[in-house]
Amino acid sequence: MKLIHTHTPETLDSELLAVCQQLVPQGIPEYVACRCPETGEPGSEAAVAGWVVTVWDAVLLQCVAQFVTETPQGRVYFSSLPQERILFIPDPSLSEKMTQSPRPAVQLSLSQRSEVKRFIAVSEEERSIMGRYPVRDGKIQLPADEAKLLGKLAREKESLAIRINLLLRAPDSPCLCGSGKKFRKCCKTRLARLA
Ligand SMILES: [Zn+2]
Repeated sequence: MKLIHTHTPETLDSELLAVCQQLVPQGIPEYVACRCPETGEPGSEAAVAGWVVTVWDAVLLQCVAQFVTETPQGRVYFSSLPQERILFIPDPSLSEKMTQSPRPAVQLSLSQRSEVKRFIAVSEEERSIMGRYPVRDGKIQLPADEAKLLGKLAREKESLAIRINLLLRAPDSPCLCGSGKKFRKCCKTRLARLA
């Protein structure tokens, strides 16, 4: 079961704006339309660096460095995922960091819970380990002890994600397993046994 569900925020409210400004103080988030890569007209459009922001409801904002494309019709995000729009914060200071591996990513807490803070700290530790080793053929070249540590962090994240869902997921929201039933009537009890 996928424990972490993030999506494009439906609205830009003041709380969300305030959190986004922790990331880019002068940045103004905007919705950018998505388009399938095949339909993109080739040409001289400029790339704009910034953060694509998704939300894990009541838990955190996930911000990942990406390029959007400036076209004569406005900004466009090329993505083969079935989505209509993304939330984007332009950030020129990212332009030079786009070649980093892994790409810059930041999680911003929407909760005061210690579980959420720990989840974010563990994610940062993972990224900092991965950033120290080269990637070859799409695979990161890790020494055995670091690979073991990453495995340990992944297990800790999973157990934190279970607890966070039990604490913060709206009981009447759709279940994580995709059954279409309400969370409280479906997998909530099973997750509580795992926690
Ligand atoms: Zn379920």
